[in-house]
Amino acid sequence: MPTIYVTRKIPDIGLAMLRGKGFTLDVSEKDGVLTKEELLGALRKRSYDGVLCLLTDTINAETFAAVPSAKIFANYAVGFNNIDVAEAKKRGVTITNTPGALTNTVAEHAMALIMAVATRTAEGDRLMRSGKWGGWGPMQLLGADLKGKTLGVLGAGRIGSRLAFHCQKGFEMNVIYYDVKQNTEFEKETGAKFCATPEEVLKEADVVSVHVPLLDSTKHLINAERLKLMKKTAYLVNTSRGPVVDEAALVEALKSGTIAGAGLDVYESEPKTAPGLTECENAVLTPHIASATETTRGEMARLAAENLIAFFDGKTPPNLVQ
Ligand code: NAD
Repeated sequence: MPTIYVTRKIPDIGLAMLRGKGFTLDVSEKDGVLTKEELLGALRKRSYDGVLCLLTDTINAETFAAVPSAKIFANYAVGFNNIDVAEAKKRGVTITNTPGALTNTVAEHAMALIMAVATRTAEGDRLMRSGKWGGWGPMQLLGADLKGKTLGVLGAGRIGSRLAFHCQKGFEMNVIYYDVKQNTEFEKETGAKFCATPEEVLKEADVVSVHVPLLDSTKHLINAERLKLMKKTAYLVNTSRGPVVDEAALVEALKSGTIAGAGLDVYESEPKTAPGLTECENAVLTPHIASATETTRGEMARLAAENLIAFFDGKTPPNLVQ
């Protein structure tokens, strides 16, 4: 039966499914991300048939070479920018991910960030805890309403379109979007207007939410120049991947009032943040937890296990990347 290396403990449901099918699992005992040396060292220990890896693991030519027996890397994430997919293809290694399971959860987290930054929830929370609140005031911590405002989605795939659904149906917001592919189904569902360029979205939207995958073409999609196109009253929300936004440029924009605020779940060099970001009162920051609900993390574990089980049954895994 297949022997799988699991790079970090994930919810039991996935591990139990694999063990139930007779798989042998070696699960990393480290309570944290394996360093490159630790990962390569662990993979070289045994002729693993497959690897269950995380978005925090860099999977490239060196990794594949450390475990040439492994014919599948099942990523416990929908994003797979941590994996050199072209290299996997060259070596005939199968890659899978966990799409769908986290769509609504991440969209809800993006909604939470939008609401937190617009209603100044985190600032209010900090004020309460500081013991410095002097009581109700007519001009205190004034935020912005969402009703009737325009949401601009960059990347209207699964998560982007779900967020638009929440914003349009729940908050009566208008929706505009830019994507490399026009999505007419999404337009019908939310009344979204397609914009031919990201610039158009940035100029028009009151809230810009980013949902593109991290690719060479999307690195620093939001840069200093594009931040300047946004309204001074607008908010930027990023739950996609950190490098999609030039974080240093964003800090500058937050400090100078180029935009009103930002809600971020992802960062360019996690777990670090760009100098000055944590001092920006107008930024709401969460530690890459957009998919972190009990149900969704369990569902992701189930999908990753399903992919491995299908592969070793000689079937096409349900969530094949390549
Ligand atoms: P998806 O593939 O369904 O949607 C991505 C969309 O982006 C697609 O419609 C695609 O056409 C579009 N796109 C690709 N390149 C583009 C470009 N250059 N410009 C504009 N649009 C472009 O993916 P999804 O399931 O919606 O997930 C989106 C991303 O969210 C993932 O790739 C992942 O990196 C990130 N994510 C983050 C978390 C988190 O915990 N914060 C959780 C899940 C996913």
